Amino acid sequence: MQCPYCGAENQLRVVDTTHDSDDGIRRRRECKACSRRFSTYERVLRATPMLIKSNGDREAFDREKLIRGIQISCAKRPIPAADINSLVEEIETHLQHIGQDEVSSRVVGDMVIEGLKRLDPIAYIRYAIVYLGLDNLTSVRDMLDSLLGDQQSHTNAKGSGAASGAADTGKRSAPTAAGSDSEPPPDSSS
Ligand SMILES: [Zn+2]
Repeated sequence: MQCPYCGAENQLRVVDTTHDSDDGIRRRRECKACSRRFSTYERVLRATPMLIKSNGDREAFDREKLIRGIQISCAKRPIPAADINSLVEEIETHLQHIGQDEVSSRVVGDMVIEGLKRLDPIAYIRYAIVYLGLDNLTSVRDMLDSLLGDQQSHTNAKGSGAASGAADTGKRSAPTAAGSDSEPPPDSSS
């Protein structure tokens, strides 16, 4: 194995080895040449079914691609990378336990939707708009209504959010200077 930093070959020593719940082995390694550290991860490869896309094409499950897709929906949201990884892990494990050669790619999309619903409402909305193909405001509003209904029925025990950034609540940042006089103030409408 090669050091990813300095490229030295066979200069790595294992500092630490840990096992995770999914038969994975993580090894913390240190390069004897440059002293930098990094981790490698070994995982047992089980057969993951092919995904049948809506147009009938077959596609191999690609965890990196799925992670990237989810990350786009989670951009600038307070979602730990570990949560995204474990969601993808959960999806892959589920696919493997179905025990079929092929499954509808919808299985994956539905699990992402459900997972994001747990993780972060804004990421969920972003993903759902694309995944469910919501192409007008009415259908987006219907989705928001059902989401808000869900939230109310859960009588959220969660406290106030992080409130770290400025407009973190998913509000569209309205043009402040440019079109201000052409738009009614937010409270006078409706
Ligand atoms: Zn090195």
